[in-house]
Formats: sequence, structure tokens, C-alpha cells
Amino acid sequence: MKPKICKLCGKTYEPTNKRQLYCLDCREQARKMHRAEYNAKRYKPKPREPKTTLDEKVRKARALGMSYGQYQAQKLMEYARVTI
Ligand SMILES: [Zn+2]
Repeated sequence: MKPKICKLCGKTYEPTNKRQLYCLDCREQARKMHRAEYNAKRYKPKPREPKTTLDEKVRKARALGMSYGQYQAQKLMEYARVTI
């Protein structure tokens, strides 16, 4: 096969595959880079709802006439209903 130039280090190498873009030395590094790129796209951090402190939660629960435990249980029930 025709020698190619590595996209990472610029070295000339003998490709073992038509689609090969990197020399043997860079292959593993290139794979890691691509994986990191892919993962960054794939696993985008979800926008989190602003954190409420326990104190705020307790206050919210009290405003609804519930204890904090009841409030959390209700939230869990809502969450379960949505996901099922
Ligand atoms: Zn290389």
C-alpha cells in the first residue's frame, strides 16, 4: 500500500488499512482523543435545577402543610409516575 502521512505527528507510515489515518505510534492516542470527543458529545451534562438547601425544602414542605419526609415522598411519587 502507498505510504501515508500521519495526521497527528506528520510521519510517513505504511498503512495496514485503507482508512487508517494515523501511524502505529499515534493510533492509540488518536483513538483516545476520538473517544473523549465522542463521549463529550454523547454525555452532555444535563442542566441541573438549582440546588435547594435542606432548609428551603423544609420550608416548602411546611408551606404545603407537610413534613419534609412527606414532601420528599410526594416528589418521589411524582418522579416515579413520570418515568414509568
Ligand atoms: Zn503519528
